[in-house]
Amino acid sequence: TPVSATDVITDALVELQRRVANLDEGEVASYIPQLATADPHTFGIALTSMGGNHYWSGGVDTPFTLQSVSKPFVYALVLAELGLEEVTRWVGAEPSGEAYNAISLEPNTGRPANAMINAGAIVTTALVPGTDEEERFERILDCLGRFAGRRLDVDERVRASESETGDRNRALAYLMRGAGSLPGRPSGVETYFRQCSVRVTTVDLAVMAATLANGGVNPSTGETVVPEPVAVQVLAVMASCGMYNASGDWLLRVGLPAKSGVSGGLIAASPARFGLAVHSPPLDATGTPVRGVAVLRELSTRFGLHLMRRS
Ligand code: GLU
Repeated sequence: TPVSATDVITDALVELQRRVANLDEGEVASYIPQLATADPHTFGIALTSMGGNHYWSGGVDTPFTLQSVSKPFVYALVLAELGLEEVTRWVGAEPSGEAYNAISLEPNTGRPANAMINAGAIVTTALVPGTDEEERFERILDCLGRFAGRRLDVDERVRASESETGDRNRALAYLMRGAGSLPGRPSGVETYFRQCSVRVTTVDLAVMAATLANGGVNPSTGETVVPEPVAVQVLAVMASCGMYNASGDWLLRVGLPAKSGVSGGLIAASPARFGLAVHSPPLDATGTPVRGVAVLRELSTRFGLHLMRRS
């Protein structure tokens, strides 16, 4: 009997997930105390096609917080609202070559290198239009929900834990405020903490990535979440800056726009093909999920997914 595409994709994910589950390296993030409570064995892979079909393996319904995976989507929101030129006045598009929490600001202007590191994301969040932080956050939550295809909510325990221990991010906000490179007040960093604490599942993340891969149209709901040029801009910055100080190596070996977060989420987008998400909490020394990297490296090689290939 002929094998359907569904079986082929699912079989590949199941087989890969089983094998990579043996990889027992890395540490669950603990600098945000509430994140340390995550089960290191949770491990799921989800894929959403441009036709809105879902494929998965492992535990893909366990909720976790977005953390830095929120950054490309809030960047998309402000690009859609303000346009590339205005956003670029405030945040650059150069890989910093430094860690996610680096004090990576341009010497004269204080402008952060890109929107995928904390400094840049704090600026991006501050650029979201709104009369107060409540309204700004509601816009963010609404936008993240449109990318996921369902209304999302906040894990208040993670938010409180992050706020309690978020002095480095607060310091970044004050530094930028002092340099004149922060639109808004340093207290707006609390909105960034809330955005990082939005709760998702691995399936949600796959749909969010698929929406970027699909030119801004959510393949599950059919809704245009952002205009196509914005989706392209976001994928471009994910490709060059999405994996922090491992971004160059990632583009070399995997060749797909991607973004990881310290709760163990990792998304990758294959334009016009699919969005993929992996969730596994243990991180390597750069703060990147160990199993997520292993999954993407292997999938890219095996299925020839590198962007620089001819097809
Ligand atoms: N909320 C985290 C922080 O600001 C995000 C870091 C990450 O996921 O890489 O430290």
